[in-house]
Amino acid sequence: MSRIRFSAVEESMNRTPLVIETPKGGVTAYFGENVFGLDAMRQFLSEEAFESVEAASVSGARLDRKMADQIAAGMKAWAISKGANHYTHWFQPLTGSTAEKHDAFFEPIPGGRAIERFGGNQLVQQEPDASSFPNGGIRNTFEARGYTAWDPSSPAFIIGDTLCIPTIFVSYTGEALDFKTPLMRALSALDNAAVEVCQYFDKNVTKVSATLGWEQEYFLVDEALHNARPDLAISGRTLFGAAPAKGQQLEDHYFGSIPDRVTSFMRDLEIEAHKLGIPIKTRHNEVAPNQFECAPVYEEINIAVDHNQLLVDLMHRIGRRHNFRVLLHEKPFAGVNGSGKHNNWSLATNTGKNLLSPGKTPKTNMQFLTFFINTIKAFHDNADLLRATIASAGNDHRLGANEAPPAIMSVFLGTQLSAVLDELEEKVKAGKMTTEEKTALKLNIGKIPDILLDNTDRNRTSPFAFTGNKFEFRAVGSSANCAGPMTVLNTIMADQLEKFKAEVDKQIDKGMDKDEAILKVLREYIVASKRIRFEGNGYGEEWVKEAKKRGLNNFKTTPEALEAWMRKDFVQLFERNGVLSEREQHARYEIYLETYVKKIQIEGRVLGDLAVNHIIPTALQYQNMLINNVRGLKEVLGASEFKKAGAIQLEMISEISERVANIKNGVDAMTEERKKANNIDDWQKKAYAYCNKVKPYFDQIRENIDKLEMIVADEAWPFPKYRELLFTK
Ligand code: ADP
Ligand code: MG
Repeated sequence: MSRIRFSAVEESMNRTPLVIETPKGGVTAYFGENVFGLDAMRQFLSEEAFESVEAASVSGARLDRKMADQIAAGMKAWAISKGANHYTHWFQPLTGSTAEKHDAFFEPIPGGRAIERFGGNQLVQQEPDASSFPNGGIRNTFEARGYTAWDPSSPAFIIGDTLCIPTIFVSYTGEALDFKTPLMRALSALDNAAVEVCQYFDKNVTKVSATLGWEQEYFLVDEALHNARPDLAISGRTLFGAAPAKGQQLEDHYFGSIPDRVTSFMRDLEIEAHKLGIPIKTRHNEVAPNQFECAPVYEEINIAVDHNQLLVDLMHRIGRRHNFRVLLHEKPFAGVNGSGKHNNWSLATNTGKNLLSPGKTPKTNMQFLTFFINTIKAFHDNADLLRATIASAGNDHRLGANEAPPAIMSVFLGTQLSAVLDELEEKVKAGKMTTEEKTALKLNIGKIPDILLDNTDRNRTSPFAFTGNKFEFRAVGSSANCAGPMTVLNTIMADQLEKFKAEVDKQIDKGMDKDEAILKVLREYIVASKRIRFEGNGYGEEWVKEAKKRGLNNFKTTPEALEAWMRKDFVQLFERNGVLSEREQHARYEIYLETYVKKIQIEGRVLGDLAVNHIIPTALQYQNMLINNVRGLKEVLGASEFKKAGAIQLEMISEISERVANIKNGVDAMTEERKKANNIDDWQKKAYAYCNKVKPYFDQIRENIDKLEMIVADEAWPFPKYRELLFTK
């Protein structure tokens, strides 16, 4: 059995890095070459068609049939010129990955010949037979069909020989079945609300978009080693494995030099990403051994989401080319850091202004403070919903494990901005302010940029940190689709800004001047959202106590966290902003529960299988060896000599028996609980059963396996060990 392990280790050690050459002309020559972007559109579309795609992408204007035909023809000509022969609608169902179904351009015509065909109909709408995607009951009750519809705001691209058209995925009755549809609805709500608020400061603002810069963490494991670990291959994480003598305690991996084989993978990935217009820019080692990160320059959020999904897909493909497997699980290895996907978020106007970046004048800083404080208020009022959007079986291992933000949602502002808010709270009077008071306050507000320039404090333990010109949502899991949390963030911001506008207008109507009205409402928000602000160490035990005192929730598991989806106020929030109907939310809640259950179920099965069919037999074989040894010793030594010489062996024999019994009993009890859980119809109850009854056995079983790993002869151990998985380059 251990032959597999040794040959896997050998294979992995003998790999040589692929040589990756930068294509001719450098990045300017090939950046975006596989994207039907502005340049390609200008070349392949008539002026009229070009303008209508642009209009559709900015305002969502509908395209008529004739125009769609024209655009499709241009797109097809471009794709064929690049060697494509298939096309697909590319969408993001709630499975978490992307989906595609390829069709050939080719169509037979009478006379035994064929033409290449791709018209407006094929471009705009498709009906994939996608009935097995999760739909939370939406499609069962009405119509079995689901539709994909072109999203002109994200450009088409080519992968291999296939033209990929970004689309949304909805049911026959128009309900969202994907991540993208609600995101786009939220962005539209945000645009409307934010433009209204911007009008207080700048009449030229007619559009506000959200921006996103994600940071993707991942692990690389050699393919041969990966394949020799069925737990990793099937569930995405190791379900057992004793801690290596050296883990990450020396902190020598973080920002360390990148091994050649990894650099070669990264270079390959960068080149392919750049061809697809994904602007990845930074790469470095992360904290854990064999853990890495890459990040792009930020983009408009819908594009950034697509680009992250596309990059994840590319990572897997290119990883294979280099005999690596890319692990995106939040916690593939116990005892070393897990992986996250920080979402850096801000708001940008059509006038080129970042609304979360302080400006040069009191007026622009009033605008900055307005958006800044509204974000904090929105986060405060909807903290439980944000927690719900990052909940997953994988992320449960990471949040609060002293390596990632805790499951308690809080906001970090930095000392300087905290002081600014404290000052506002103090100086803005509840009653009427004098002209001098107002002038003094404005003067102070005008000074914000100077203060921020030397604001270097960063808090890596906060789930939601302000970092100078953006907020960084750091609690998102590495395997998540950014659209989930970003839909919520943009929805709550839209809702908050609308309330803000109404409250300020009410004061103005009563005769208060605009600036004073804004300051007064902002002051109320500062007071109301105070408890969500936390500048200290988020990893500390004190914070858990302090947060409890403040009445902040600490949902440690996915089933608890997900309940927010069904809270009345949140249901209304989504409905009010036109992002998700109650039915759509219900469906999502059910899908998230179902996904959770399935993940734990798979882990339980794999663990049971490997424990009983691989680990126990190995342990028993080794125990037999010990028993033979004892027999031999008894035979050659006298009874009194044996007592000394055989004591350790006897101890080991009985420890193995004990561990084996613990494992077997644990697996049997776990299987029993799984059976019970499987008989529960209600998804919520089932998820709780998996969480509280099934999952606790994992740790107990694992502990015994890991102890055996330390006892049993290394050459007999059937699976690659942590030291091999984590330290083989
Ligand atoms: P860190 O110290 O967290 O690594 P960086 O300065 O490297 O921070 O930026 C991290 C990410 O933040 C990058 O992906 C970057 O593009 C993104 N970012 C910068 N400005 C903005 C913005 N205005 N909106 C959204 N994301 C941004
Ligand atoms: Mg970061």
